[in-house]
Amino acid sequence: MRHCKILVINSGSSSIKYRLFDVRTNNNKHDAHYDLLTKGLIEKIGQQGSGVSDHKQGIQVLLNQLVASRETGLSSLNDICAIGHRVVHGGVTFGHPALITDEVISKIRDCIELAPLHNPANLAGIEACKELLPQTKQVAIFDTAFHQTLPEHAYIYGLPYEYYEKYNLRKFGFHGTSHHYVAHEAARLLKKPLKKLKIITCHLGNGCSITAVKNGKSVDTSMGFTPLEGLVMGTRCGDIDPASVIFLADKENISLEQIDKVLNYKSGLKGISGISNDMREIKQAARQGHHRAKLALDIFTYRIKKYIGSYVAALDGVDAIVFTAGIGENEKDIRQKIIKGLFNFLNRKKVKVFVIATNEELMIAKQTFHLVK
Ligand code: ADP
Repeated sequence: MRHCKILVINSGSSSIKYRLFDVRTNNNKHDAHYDLLTKGLIEKIGQQGSGVSDHKQGIQVLLNQLVASRETGLSSLNDICAIGHRVVHGGVTFGHPALITDEVISKIRDCIELAPLHNPANLAGIEACKELLPQTKQVAIFDTAFHQTLPEHAYIYGLPYEYYEKYNLRKFGFHGTSHHYVAHEAARLLKKPLKKLKIITCHLGNGCSITAVKNGKSVDTSMGFTPLEGLVMGTRCGDIDPASVIFLADKENISLEQIDKVLNYKSGLKGISGISNDMREIKQAARQGHHRAKLALDIFTYRIKKYIGSYVAALDGVDAIVFTAGIGENEKDIRQKIIKGLFNFLNRKKVKVFVIATNEELMIAKQTFHLVK
């Protein structure tokens, strides 16, 4: 039996989340067991009085915590085999996890224009680890990578083709690690190879997206060039007529930047209900008869049902539908409402419905181990 410790890091703009896994393998390295040893969070990076001025200091605090903790069994930082980093955007360059080199770092930097809020923070975590643990192998796992298998007809927009050629303006899709993980789990529960299944995965959290997975590959997904496209989410509008942006700019006399804020932070469940982006609060208000809360719920579930229906068509059928993330895992009424509508036209004996807790960190640990083993 061999042991290998994998550290998973999700470095955001003001926080770093981490998990340490122990990977046990016998001679058959394909059969690995993953145990979570510890997890933690470094918060308020760069904020006055937090004592953590930047990501390098944050990673240093995290490493000290790991060595000090009994749960980890680390005698020194050299006991960490590899570090897996979550990176939001891998553009068209990264369709798979990548061992981090200077060239990979430079390519992740090239993707900053596609994810200006996320990739710089992800990179800051990578660079800090590289400096503090120069001997340890590091791997980047991209949220967009799973969707790099989308066929052209699913990722090209109905815009002049030159914008795709000039700027890579196309559908990328997000939440890839989560969709990939729950699709794998569904195949395991069905006791069938993922490569022989048609699965629709619904990640319904604050951000929401749906993916059509055919034979283990993402063939369509609801988020797009940015995470704004697709479903109605906590604060994001999802699909709207693009002409509404021009109309609004004129009527409200506001800048494109302000409209971007409206679409990303003031819309969705929050914008429709006028109450909150939190599903629990919306449901409570709906129960008390609040019209706009009820309407937000109806729009939310209707849009999901519509997407699932269209993905049944995209896949030429479906073997399983999976619900995951905060709403998907916990909101039984919402799942039932969606499923009830779908079973009016799907064969309920043939289509399995699963609720699977997402575990992006475990997926990152697995992919990291596979790359470095
Ligand atoms: P994020 O996208 O921020 O990771 P989550 O996956 O945590 O979001 O999902 C948050 C959403 O899940 C909120 O709308 C919240 O109301 C809803 N939710 C419903 N029940 C629960 C629960 N028991 N725990 C956490 N979130 C829940």
